[in-house]
Amino acid sequence: MRGKTIHIVGGGIVGLCTAWYLNKAGCKVIVVDEHSLTEGTSFGNAGMIVPSHFVPMATPGVIQKGLKWMFNSKSPFYIKPRLSMELVQWLWQFYRSANAGHVHKVMPILFELNERSKELYKTMAKEQDFDFGFEEKGLLMLYKTKKQAEEEQILAEKAYQLGVKAEVLDANGLKRFEPEMDLDVLGGVYFPGDAHLYPNHLMAQLVNRLKQSGVTFLSETSIVDFTIKSARIQSLLTDADKAIPVENVILSLGSWTGHLLRKAGIKIYLQDGKGYSVTLENPGLRPRIPTILSEAKVAVTPMGNDLRIGGTLELSGLSQKINQKRVEGIIESVPKYYKNIAVPFGTQTKIWKGYRPCTPDGMPYIGPSDTITNLFVGTGHGMMGLSLGAVTGKLLSQMIIREKPMLATEPFRLNRF
Ligand SMILES: Cc1cc2nc3c(=O)[nH]c(=O)nc-3n(C[C@H](O)[C@H](O)[C@H](O)COP(=O)(O)OP(=O)(O)OC[C@H]3O[C@@H](n4cnc5c(N)ncnc54)[C@H](O)[C@@H]3O)c2cc1C
Repeated sequence: MRGKTIHIVGGGIVGLCTAWYLNKAGCKVIVVDEHSLTEGTSFGNAGMIVPSHFVPMATPGVIQKGLKWMFNSKSPFYIKPRLSMELVQWLWQFYRSANAGHVHKVMPILFELNERSKELYKTMAKEQDFDFGFEEKGLLMLYKTKKQAEEEQILAEKAYQLGVKAEVLDANGLKRFEPEMDLDVLGGVYFPGDAHLYPNHLMAQLVNRLKQSGVTFLSETSIVDFTIKSARIQSLLTDADKAIPVENVILSLGSWTGHLLRKAGIKIYLQDGKGYSVTLENPGLRPRIPTILSEAKVAVTPMGNDLRIGGTLELSGLSQKINQKRVEGIIESVPKYYKNIAVPFGTQTKIWKGYRPCTPDGMPYIGPSDTITNLFVGTGHGMMGLSLGAVTGKLLSQMIIREKPMLATEPFRLNRF
């Protein structure tokens, strides 16, 4: 439907992909962001496109595991203790979702969503001069202990049942994939259907290409409220007391979406899962295939000539603090799996941080508000926001131009809790 005007608030991967498909559909698109669109959660992440990640975070047994991790300063998970009703309510919904029935229900949905998104990125990567390092080399889940081996092999079995390709390998079998790596592991599972890309390159090129195709960017513009009349947003209000008149609005502010939605009287359950990464520029020796170090929950991704190492999930209440101990935990885990990779780490090391927008049930929010008629939301992708950016953008654009969505969107509705 040509001619529609859409303001997208939040220019992370979800906002930019939505702008991409709406622009292609002939809409007039304005992206509003409080920063300069050069850094943020969608830039420094681990770059993995993961159809293999069909199991949500809320699973039976995860709460006991999380409690144990809370007391280890270098563990991959932490909740910053604080008096927050929002956090309590989120944890309650998380607890309600952590059961076998829920996991069974959402697995095929998350897999399909990821698969579709991968195909969309693949199509994007075929556009002329659009090179963001997209490669389909799969993903290795490496483990060192028998206990973790059992967990990963159960996951591989679930994958078979869903139709996701997975190959269980012993240490010898892994040499075929990483002949140059000196691995100290018991084995691993290879998921050939996964892909990866260089998120910083994708984001920078998306901004440039969108500008060239006529999308307007209002950067350094923070939206703090709305004017609403007759169940419609009339204008976006900025922190500089300006009113921006609007026709249709999409909120894709990642971990900040819930705060702004509240101004429109809408409640969603969302917590930020802070994580860190370090990028080694041109380190020479490095793995060929993206890897997750299973016990440590650390992602290791080759990106162009670089190597990125990322991990940790802290429910921190959007705290800006960098927890040095947890970053050390990430860095120290690498040579425990890859004996011949030493990660230099010191006061000069540039540590990146980002905030995964996490829902209690592991499903994103994608769809319209049921109270404000010109408002749509795309957020809550947690650990898979990069993976699912393209499909979310496509689905939101289809909803707005009133085309049949490529997938059923009911599981992603805002008021499902
Ligand atoms: C360590 C780490 C590793 C990760 N690895 C992966 C991975 O391998 N694969 C994967 O799929 N995902 C990964 N993720 C998750 C992924 O990065 C996120 O889910 C995704 O980037 C979220 O994108 P978004 O567009 O929803 O939000 P964001 O990228 O956070 O974008 C939100 C935007 O909204 C803007 N904004 C906020 N408030 C306002 C306001 N008031 N007014 C205007 N603008 C505002 C912000 O400036 C920002 O640009 C990882 C995350 C971390 C932390």
